[in-house]
Amino acid sequence: MKSLSPLLHLASLALGSTTPSLNHRTRNDSCAAAVSTVDLQTGAKCACGKLSASYSDLVLLPGSANYTAQATAYWDIRADLDPACIFLPTSAAQVADAVSVFTTCQAQFAVRGGGHMNYPGSNNIDGGVLLAFSNMKDYKVHNDSIDVTPGMTWYDVYSALDPYGRAAIGGRLKTIGVPGLTLIGGVSYFINKYGFAMDNVLSYDVVLGNGTQVIVNATSHPDLFWALKGGANNFGIVTKFTLKTYPMPHISTTIQQFNETAVYEFIKATCNWVIADSETAIAAGSVLDITYNVTTGDVSPLLLGVQAGISNPPSMFANFTAIPGVSKTNNITTSKQWASNLDSPKQMFRVLFGMHAMYPDPNVLYTMYQTWKSAIDTIADVAGLYPTFVLNISPASAARIAQTNGIGNVWGLADEPLIWWQFSTGWANAEDDLRVEACIRQLTEHLHSINKANGLARDFIYMGDAGEWQDPFAGFPAENVQRMREIREKYDPLGTFMRLNWGGFKLGV
Ligand SMILES: Cc1cc2nc3c(=O)[nH]c(=O)nc-3n(C[C@H](O)[C@H](O)[C@H](O)COP(=O)(O)OP(=O)(O)OC[C@H]3O[C@@H](n4cnc5c(N)ncnc54)[C@H](O)[C@@H]3O)c2cc1C
Repeated sequence: MKSLSPLLHLASLALGSTTPSLNHRTRNDSCAAAVSTVDLQTGAKCACGKLSASYSDLVLLPGSANYTAQATAYWDIRADLDPACIFLPTSAAQVADAVSVFTTCQAQFAVRGGGHMNYPGSNNIDGGVLLAFSNMKDYKVHNDSIDVTPGMTWYDVYSALDPYGRAAIGGRLKTIGVPGLTLIGGVSYFINKYGFAMDNVLSYDVVLGNGTQVIVNATSHPDLFWALKGGANNFGIVTKFTLKTYPMPHISTTIQQFNETAVYEFIKATCNWVIADSETAIAAGSVLDITYNVTTGDVSPLLLGVQAGISNPPSMFANFTAIPGVSKTNNITTSKQWASNLDSPKQMFRVLFGMHAMYPDPNVLYTMYQTWKSAIDTIADVAGLYPTFVLNISPASAARIAQTNGIGNVWGLADEPLIWWQFSTGWANAEDDLRVEACIRQLTEHLHSINKANGLARDFIYMGDAGEWQDPFAGFPAENVQRMREIREKYDPLGTFMRLNWGGFKLGV
């Protein structure tokens, strides 16, 4: 598609704009339903033609600078693809129109919020239609909540709440999108007290697979309300999130960097941090990772710690503060100010994730760290290699929010602390894709199998940290997955979000 001029492309759209014959199937006919009745190109020509006819200013075609900017607005360079056209709606009504067009034309499509999900097809599409939310960046602040449209980043949300001295439960870096993170769960800096981002959504405005709009909350479509809490992009397109907010005029932060001699103590402090479980704890959370520079041999454990309030240094990170480090910087600031310094720019590198969950055990984690380092050494010649061992915490208190709030979420996490260990591996060139993937995938599953044998492993997989080969739904309670399938059947009987919007973590037939 790259070489097609906008003019030629429009002509081909016009030629192909006849509505194809439809053959809607029901989800009970699940294998047959997975077969599209219209091929990719025909569906896209039809949909791009219809969208261009109704919204000429909001449709981008290959060859324009704006198209290129949108088609590459991704964190992971691997996610750059070549859609037949890009639609940039400005309202929920236009999103609903677009979904109607997709189903009428049987057009395959992708949806993008902040563009941080890091693999091809999760948020972009070759030859289909990309619906991107860059034009929907609206918000409305209420006393104890905020309405947010899906073009907003978490920095936008924290900035909107800053004048009110309040915070929402959302992403830890600046440019992550609200919709993707909130629909898959959402790990925040206040996880121990308020749970996950999904647990703090009061209401969703949703466009269903037949183009109708519904409001979804505890009293309106409560079954779908539950399914959207962790169910990702399997049920509809969310055009508005209403998020709870909490008074938080200031936060206390710490940035602590260590060297390799501190790795074991750093891992031990991480385990103690997630195991500590108190209902009265101060709201706090972290980014914890160990970076290995294969060129210099340097290993750098890093803590970004945040807690509510003005206690300085932040008391929740005393275990880390006690470890001798290279540098430690403490500050009193606001969520907006803190996030402003934590960018994760688009097009950084090619990057593969991979993760599993385990009960915290510092000795086992330290052995895993050593194995990871040895495995990375085998691919040390890969250009631009940027390997990171990430330790995300999932405290028991976070799991208890869903157990006690009368709503729950699709994860059904048990009342126990977990470490979600993750390998995040960046590199420069496409020629190394298969090699890096083979190494990291094998390593991830090998370590998980050892943890399974020693009883430490858990089945849970977080979509935000997972590799594209992993199946998070296999780690949710089977009865929850069954219930999600029934809810999908009820709200998307046409299978729009399975057949036509097939990228990302899908529930499957
Ligand atoms: C650098 C970095 C830092 C991260 N930090 C955190 C963190 O602090 N906490 C955490 O929990 N996770 C984190 N993640 C993971 C992150 O939450 C996911 O990648 C998430 O999907 C990003 O949301 P997005 O809107 O930017 O993603 P996108 O890539 O735009 O979307 C992700 C998925 O959601 C779908 N989608 C997008 N908008 C909608 C919508 N309105 N309706 C229905 N479906 C939609 C897309 O089609 C896609 O499948 C991080 C990821 C990266 C790369």
